[in-house]
Amino acid sequence: MDVGALAHAVWVVLLPVMLFVSLLRFLFVRGIRTGPLLVLLLWSGAALWQGYGTGPGWLVPAAYGVLGLALLEILVVLVKVVRVRVVTPEGLRHLVAAARESTGRVVMMLAVVPNGNLLVEEVPPGTGSRSVRLTEGCPLCFVEGVASELVGAGGPVVEEYRARLAGGVNQLLFLRRLAPGAPWEYRLDDAAGRPAVHRNPGCPQHGGRLL
Ligand SMILES: [Zn+2]
Repeated sequence: MDVGALAHAVWVVLLPVMLFVSLLRFLFVRGIRTGPLLVLLLWSGAALWQGYGTGPGWLVPAAYGVLGLALLEILVVLVKVVRVRVVTPEGLRHLVAAARESTGRVVMMLAVVPNGNLLVEEVPPGTGSRSVRLTEGCPLCFVEGVASELVGAGGPVVEEYRARLAGGVNQLLFLRRLAPGAPWEYRLDDAAGRPAVHRNPGCPQHGGRLL
């Protein structure tokens, strides 16, 4: 066997392996990342080129299968992103109450994204992350209400939340309770990526300039 034929044989074995590895990498990173997607498209293109050319014909359906799975993953992620549940403030309060009643360690997160939707994580526990939109009322007031209720009215949490929003950077409010009966603790983090603060013209507190 000459060197050219040997290289071709190795290439034909390597190609489906790399195609499969690029698919796994694309599926198992969280969300859609451009890098793994480009690598997957590159290997799929190479498999199609070989399959239609001098390589084994089964590379063609294999490449289309990989591209189909990648497309399905993209659609699933997009549906999750655009699906926003509309809830009443009372309905969401019930979910927060369920977190308060639950046993064991509870860590949840509330944030108001710039368009006024609420991003909630683990409310109630075990439900992961999702976006909700309140049917009425101010979402920032809602977050302050939950913080006051759990961490304690008159405490520094609402003051600190308002002061940090007034700095022009959106905030993620983490609420944690280590065990039933233990006090709730809070932490405020600057929101990465989407730092703009939501303004609600209908709310005297959060309408214009904050604080
Ligand atoms: Zn408000």
